[in-house]
Amino acid sequence: MTYSEWFDSHAQKHKNIIDKLLAQNFTQEQIIEYFEFSNMVKHEKEFCLLYETQKKCHDIPYLNCYFCACPHFRFKEDGIKKIEKKTKYSFCAIGAKAGTLVAYGDAIHQDCSGCTIPHTKKYVEKNFDLNWKNSMKECRI
Ligand code: SF4
Repeated sequence: MTYSEWFDSHAQKHKNIIDKLLAQNFTQEQIIEYFEFSNMVKHEKEFCLLYETQKKCHDIPYLNCYFCACPHFRFKEDGIKKIEKKTKYSFCAIGAKAGTLVAYGDAIHQDCSGCTIPHTKKYVEKNFDLNWKNSMKECRI
């Protein structure tokens, strides 16, 4: 699956959940809490492949899934630039220390597995937007 395929498919899944919650008059606070991992695992099994095994993408006590993916992630399907003989396809716009670039063969991708920035409740509250695509509008370059 390409970055764009995942991005567009995830945007739709996110929108479907938001539409459902708004139809039930959820407040912003309730929506944010709905996206907490343990609730999502129970009620939104299709949202993330990891939910099937109840495995968190980051081993932290409170994990909010609202900002999967991260608004600071940048990607370009046909590559951003060449680094020696490799092509870089993604990076972190804020250069978060917990993130890193990883090479897979001749491709270089951003690896966010060590970074929990977008998964805290505080971050979601501060950057909340009902429209996931608005939050992610700078990701695809
Ligand atoms: S390293 Fe952290 S802040 Fe940067 S894109 Fe990844 S999750 Fe977001």
